[in-house]
Amino acid sequence: MIGAGVCGIYQLYRLLELGIDVTVLESGSGPGGTWFWNRYPGARFDSESWTYGYSFSKELLEEWSWSEHFAAQPETLRYLEHVVERFDLARHMQFDCTVERAVFDDDSNTWTVSLFDGRSLTCRFLMTAIGLLSAPALPRIEGVDSFQGESFHTFYWPSEPLDLSDKRVAVVGTGATAVQVIAEIADKVGDLTVFQRHPNWCAPLNNSSITDEEQEHIKATYDEIFEKCATTPGGFIHGPQQRPMAETSPAERRALWEELYASPGFGIWLGNFRETLMDEEANAEITEFIADKIRQRVDDPLIADKLIPKDHGFGSHRVPMETNYYEAYNRPNVHLVDLLETPIERVTEKGIRTTANEHEFDVIVYATGFDAITGAFNRIDFVGSDGQHLRDKWSGSPITYLGMQINGFPNLITLAGPTAGSVSTNFPRGIEDAVNWATGLLVHLREHGITRVEADPAAEQAWTDHVREMYGFLLLRKAKSWMTGYNANVEGSEKTRYMIYTGGSPRYRKRLTEEAAAGYPNLIKS
Ligand SMILES: Cc1cc2nc3c(=O)[nH]c(=O)nc-3n(C[C@H](O)[C@H](O)[C@H](O)COP(=O)(O)OP(=O)(O)OC[C@H]3O[C@@H](n4cnc5c(N)ncnc54)[C@H](O)[C@@H]3O)c2cc1C
Repeated sequence: MIGAGVCGIYQLYRLLELGIDVTVLESGSGPGGTWFWNRYPGARFDSESWTYGYSFSKELLEEWSWSEHFAAQPETLRYLEHVVERFDLARHMQFDCTVERAVFDDDSNTWTVSLFDGRSLTCRFLMTAIGLLSAPALPRIEGVDSFQGESFHTFYWPSEPLDLSDKRVAVVGTGATAVQVIAEIADKVGDLTVFQRHPNWCAPLNNSSITDEEQEHIKATYDEIFEKCATTPGGFIHGPQQRPMAETSPAERRALWEELYASPGFGIWLGNFRETLMDEEANAEITEFIADKIRQRVDDPLIADKLIPKDHGFGSHRVPMETNYYEAYNRPNVHLVDLLETPIERVTEKGIRTTANEHEFDVIVYATGFDAITGAFNRIDFVGSDGQHLRDKWSGSPITYLGMQINGFPNLITLAGPTAGSVSTNFPRGIEDAVNWATGLLVHLREHGITRVEADPAAEQAWTDHVREMYGFLLLRKAKSWMTGYNANVEGSEKTRYMIYTGGSPRYRKRLTEEAAAGYPNLIKS
């Protein structure tokens, strides 16, 4: 298996239960994936902590206490390290090793995996748990290497403390990560300049500590919590309103939105009327509500206007959750550079030059996100049964069966791969479904003496068409975001791709269950 994040840890646990001989190969020097790498100030959940933990062990649920409703990165990393230690998983993991290439051999039905350090390993089944947001992308700007000060992508934020007081800091980007960093460091740096290409619609996280009574209640009601998550489209505790938006008055809608805006987490996005994500007119109304909030929170009307997106409505991209993000721009030491007005020309030795002037910095932070979902796959050269490269097969848009099986790439199980349902959810809820399915498949293969399995081409095409069709129902289809595979920072990704299953967790789980119950009829086995 490749990857020791949330997904790899759970899959390893399930394989060991079955007595399967397994090793996990991980680039990082420890387990945790996302939560091992992203150590930037402000990194934290937008999932409720108590909906994010694994559900498979009652003892684990009982003994672990989250301190905040939305835990920060250090706590989540401690949690994942605790899971690894508690279930004695580390001895099956190899760290500091990056997989470069994996080649399938048709004669032996095995994969040979080549590592960066020159070693190679052979296995019958190769499972990928390599993450959806694990391939950081720097901006395609000339001169990035010429800067003489300190600069890094947020993914590689130094793990040792970094004193930014009195420093002139640039943050490039205004996506979910940037929104967290900017709000967290605004009052801790000498001077902060934010370079914004496209603003995002952000909403308050409304985080708080978990009180003793809440802790007790959470632990007593885990069954109900996970049952609720299993019924919502995103696997979150927040599900859409059940009544049609048209049956409510403007005053009722306003009251609901005020309540949701003041409530913790994704409620304002995922607990809203379905129509706000599907219908232009409904979306325009909630969009105006959120735009008003931004105007109320930002003192300077010109800055407020620049922070209001004009190219998409609220909720058509994943909504970055924030704590005092908009208020950061009211501080005299925080400046906004609108790159739509004055684009970056290049990074220089001293800082960043736009078409207007050169800004000098001590530190440049690239909060420019990821080559999402397919990025980690494209960084490994997977060569399938007929010498086909996976990168080539997916060069248009990814083609898979259920996001987990690929025709021409036998015995490769892409846990949470592109087009899987788990990719668009509160991740662990989706990933537990995927891992349980993959585990069941391996049991089936073992019981039936099957040594080779891959997706049937017709089933793969039908699934890929279905994924594409589901995009059609959502305003998301028009978005230029990582969920539509669009990324101006990655060559070849300036186009829409159908990357995730948007039909919702319950429907996806049903498909998985039906496929397994019928004996995997859409897989070719021998
Ligand atoms: C800042 C941030 C905040 C997030 N917040 C939330 C949230 O609140 N809720 C939510 O549901 N999701 C959130 N996510 C998404 C998050 O990625 C998932 O929740 C989850 O951690 C993914 O787990 P994973 O194991 O699939 O992948 P990852 O955690 O990304 O782990 C993949 C691992 O594979 C390794 N790997 C990749 N390629 C190779 C290779 N070639 N060789 C060896 N090793 C390799 C990587 O080093 C990495 O450790 C967030 C993501 C980020 C970046």
